[in-house]
Amino acid sequence: MSISSETRTGSPRSFLPLIEPSLEGNEWEYVRECVETGWVSSAGRFVDRFEHEFASWLGTSNAVAVSSGTAALHLALLVAGVRPGDTVIVPTLTFIAPVNAIRYCAAKPAFLDAEPDYWQMDVAQLEKYLSVECNIKNGQTYERASGSRVAAVLPVHILGHPVDMDPLISLAEQYHLRVIEDATESLGATYKGIKAGLLGDMACFSFNGNKLITTGGGGMIVSKYSRLAERARHLSTQAKADPVEYIHDEVGYNYRLTNIQAALGCAQLEQIDDFLQRKRAIRTGYEKALEEVHGIQLQGEANWARSANWLISARFRTAAWDGCPRPMINRLRDFGIQTRPLWQPLHASKPHGQRDGTQLPVATRLYREGISLPSSVALAGQDIERVSKTLREII
Ligand SMILES: *Cc1c(COP(=O)(O)O)cnc(C)c1O
Repeated sequence: MSISSETRTGSPRSFLPLIEPSLEGNEWEYVRECVETGWVSSAGRFVDRFEHEFASWLGTSNAVAVSSGTAALHLALLVAGVRPGDTVIVPTLTFIAPVNAIRYCAAKPAFLDAEPDYWQMDVAQLEKYLSVECNIKNGQTYERASGSRVAAVLPVHILGHPVDMDPLISLAEQYHLRVIEDATESLGATYKGIKAGLLGDMACFSFNGNKLITTGGGGMIVSKYSRLAERARHLSTQAKADPVEYIHDEVGYNYRLTNIQAALGCAQLEQIDDFLQRKRAIRTGYEKALEEVHGIQLQGEANWARSANWLISARFRTAAWDGCPRPMINRLRDFGIQTRPLWQPLHASKPHGQRDGTQLPVATRLYREGISLPSSVALAGQDIERVSKTLREII
């Protein structure tokens, strides 16, 4: 049963949300089984099954289910050895969660600008940062100015599209950095034929309600290294060191996913290939419908990438409203169409802003010009037509 816009608003298709989940598979059946058997909490067969099936769908051997994508990132950073005072390299143009997770570790972010074509972390800037602002001492990299150890790089594959990982990984090897992929927005994307999440030392996924598949709230850590995955699992269960006795060997967290959530996840995972196909069709639909609209340029797709098309997003590049889509967002809302601007670049944000006045112009420009369009997997061809027609008329 899906939460369709009919049931929400009472009038057919009157409100088009930015993105909503599609729950039309075995969700009810599996959740009912949890309730009927009493296995509702953070142990049970659906948790094991979800981890197993997720790992096998992705093509890895180690997956640890956790309570959110943010919790996954926090644990991945800890397991990667990020310590207080360390530096972790991240893009400035991202949802805030990965940078918050860096701060939970009492580490600090080093922000990199985006590249203009696919809007991902600019790997040329990574090279520049490491070679100009850092040096290597005893097999570790340090920022020259602050003396802080640079422990890891955290590429975020934003909006469904992967970061250019090959040069990033060779830089990480050269500078002895762990690579943690934030693949929360790009489940199902591929980089040179390899799925996002299989490229770094570890990767994190999210099953929040707006992501490709949802458990209500939840996350997953994957790693090709079973030692790292098992340590993440240990930390996620209060670092309990004995199966019977309450003996704990370090400060842990309560970050486990519940069986009810995992039940939803198992049902969603059964539909993932279909969801990805529908997302592809939505992208193609928008490409066709917006081709003729002057001043709207969709986020590109590199020839080395296949986007998961999580949120179909565009740059608004017209002289109208001085090239800023915010009035457009308001007008679309009046027509019952929900769109969103991109995230405020985090180097300029209140919690993570940097006093040195760092200028990261591409991300700043994308923030000004970017707009995300309705992208639910259940979006119909006529919905895309309606969005495009309304956009055309407003422009
Ligand atoms: C959604 C998201 C997360 C994780 O979010 P949770 O709500 O904690 O699951 C992390 N990073 C990015 C870039 C995201 O979009």
